[in-house]
Amino acid sequence: MSLIVQKYGGTSVADVERIRNVARRVATCRRGGDDLVVVVSAMAGETNRLLGLARDVSPDPDRRESDVLVSTGEQVTTALLAMALTYMGCPAVSLLGHQIRIATDSAFGKARIQSIDDARIRAELAAGKVVVVAGFQGVDDGDNITTLGRGGSDTSAVALAAALRADSCEIYTDVDGVYTSDPRICPQARKLERISYEEMLELASLGAKVLQIRSVEFAKRYAVPVHVRSSFTDTPGTWVVAEEASMENILVSGVTSERDEAKITLLRVPDQPGLAARIFGPIADANIVVDMIIQNASAEGTTDLTFTVPKADFRQAMALVETLARDIGAAGIRTDESVAKVSIVGLGMRSHAGVAAKMFRTLAEVGINIQMIATSEIKTSVVVDAKFVELAVRVLHDAFLGKGEAA
Ligand code: ADP
Ligand code: ASP
Ligand code: MG
Repeated sequence: MSLIVQKYGGTSVADVERIRNVARRVATCRRGGDDLVVVVSAMAGETNRLLGLARDVSPDPDRRESDVLVSTGEQVTTALLAMALTYMGCPAVSLLGHQIRIATDSAFGKARIQSIDDARIRAELAAGKVVVVAGFQGVDDGDNITTLGRGGSDTSAVALAAALRADSCEIYTDVDGVYTSDPRICPQARKLERISYEEMLELASLGAKVLQIRSVEFAKRYAVPVHVRSSFTDTPGTWVVAEEASMENILVSGVTSERDEAKITLLRVPDQPGLAARIFGPIADANIVVDMIIQNASAEGTTDLTFTVPKADFRQAMALVETLARDIGAAGIRTDESVAKVSIVGLGMRSHAGVAAKMFRTLAEVGINIQMIATSEIKTSVVVDAKFVELAVRVLHDAFLGKGEAA
């Protein structure tokens, strides 16, 4: 008998009929003899609706109260699924984050899981029940409700699978696996059978929101095999697993894009030691993650410094940068809120030269200007004008993965 953690995303529990569909799938699986822990998201659109209500009462909602509010979305679906299962003759119990004790830090809205107490879940499983857990939520040291960031139910599921030493973790969603690119943007995208944790980490952090990045970090750290698949069909999906030798033969596994970036340039900053630390220290202290950074030496001992931040943090970053620019004597600030990042990811990039060059050539051929470039062992990212993002994804997919090429 296996212990399986299943997670159903927002579209899979979007209404009562779909919740019944999930209940039928879970009950069938349970009748096969497996122990099941089922993590659910809020109904599709519900988290956005709740965040909208918060903004209606306050332009800058208190973060603690915001988590109390948005965590209710998952409370609803958890109860409904447990009810539907019990009605079908499959005993089930719903548990919220604080009832299990999914302990997190106190970073409201982006809390990190620190530990999970498995006692209550084990006791309910031993009593023959399916345990339905509210995704996305936890509780901090002071008994405050916390949430794990958008898409956080993936992380709840993988962390539970790790804590319970589950045999596998199945992520049920509205696509039937991880694709070579977002199928909504790139119709030629293909489903991958297997992908390594390393590549999935890069894809997730570069815009493939099919899995929250922290869920992949957990999966990698605790060697949890993750199966991403559709809740509407029975076709096998994509296994996210430890790297296998043959995977390096594939040059590029995926093309991703991200629109949620903004670019800030500090003009003619005096070129002195310690300068970058003075600029990026306060930004990091404000919990803003700076992505790409470019520094250009220019004439007369000054330098231009360009970097990108998540759009959501742009205003806060600008408030800091305006003060800093005055303090350090920069000549001015330039900003661009309509940029996007397009990336290619693949283990094969470690051992093959020329991949980045081919990427730049492909973009040049369709007249797309590259504003910034960043590379790591298994990825190359470029920042381009946001209006070209879909074209960039498609031509890169064609060049590296399309038209039956072996990449
Ligand atoms: P859920 O609500 O089930 O968590 P999400 O909307 O968070 O689902 O994630 C699934 C979506 O991720 C898909 O509908 C798809 O548009 C998007 N997506 C982006 N990149 C990829 C990719 N490389 N492979 C599959 N899906 C992707
Ligand atoms: N409901 C949360 C969100 O919309 C968490 C999740 O769905 O994973 O981000
Ligand atoms: Mg999701």
